[in-house]
Amino acid sequence: TIWNLGSINADHVYSVPHIPTPGETLAATALSRGLGGKGANMSVAAARAGARVAHLGAVGADGGWMVERLRDHGVDCTHVQRRDGPSGHAIIAVDAQAENAITLWPGANRDIDLDAVKQALDRAVSGDLLVTQNETNSQVEAAALARARGLTVAYAAAPFEAGAVRAVLPHLDLLVLNEVEARQLSEALGTSVEDLPVPHVVVTLGAQGCDWIDTASGTRHHVDAPRVAAVDTTGAGDTFTGYLLAGLSEGLQMPEALTLASRAGALKVGRHARPMRFPRERRSSGRPSE
Ligand code: ADP
Repeated sequence: TIWNLGSINADHVYSVPHIPTPGETLAATALSRGLGGKGANMSVAAARAGARVAHLGAVGADGGWMVERLRDHGVDCTHVQRRDGPSGHAIIAVDAQAENAITLWPGANRDIDLDAVKQALDRAVSGDLLVTQNETNSQVEAAALARARGLTVAYAAAPFEAGAVRAVLPHLDLLVLNEVEARQLSEALGTSVEDLPVPHVVVTLGAQGCDWIDTASGTRHHVDAPRVAAVDTTGAGDTFTGYLLAGLSEGLQMPEALTLASRAGALKVGRHARPMRFPRERRSSGRPSE
């Protein structure tokens, strides 16, 4: 099982004639809502790849539809917590040139109850995997606990924050970064990624593929990305990481898992996101919208 202590966000996407300027009030021409957040994206990708995924995270009272969406993708949501405040959400304005401006509210993603996470991880067994990113609270505590239990611990250093990575670093087996994050980390720590105290470091390089650094042996391996015509690079890293973890949890060796992840990343950038729409209200079933 892949245990994902990860964010769950409602992405509210507003199509606008231009990005609003300070003081301006602007009517949007279209509105759509979709499931987002790096955590949820990774869970969906890993589940799509065929892995067993249990999501550890939180939504507010307004987040029942997101939990249902995750479940529809086959993600185990038994341990997704309900909090009193709003769910994490992003207000995304997109203009005709696909330029965007994003306001993010972490909401329930930064209000996850650590004790409940610990209880959930009591069910984890050796051979399981924990992944976290930098969009929740309690990343370090969960990583330390999972490591002590014998799980493989992976971390995606996004959104990048030097202090957050530095704190979680001692507990990691695998660190995944993109090129920009790798540069930021090297600058912040004053070391190259080769010298990080983490057994495996994967640096994604967009269309150039990725590098895997096996720090124990000090070797760097490159994996090419399939050539595709990129139409939308949003979330490529999340898809890549989800498939990478799925491959590893299914017993693939790193090179094979990276090949799988690279294919998934390339497929993702090669197609437009499915048009988002408001999820149908499920009131007709008589179930609480939970
Ligand atoms: P992020 O989305 O975090 O910035 P990258 O842009 O490095 O991450 O993309 C992650 C992975 O997705 C890459 O390592 C690669 O395998 C795949 N990928 C991204 N962009 C392309 C592209 N233009 N062509 C082919 N594969 C791509």
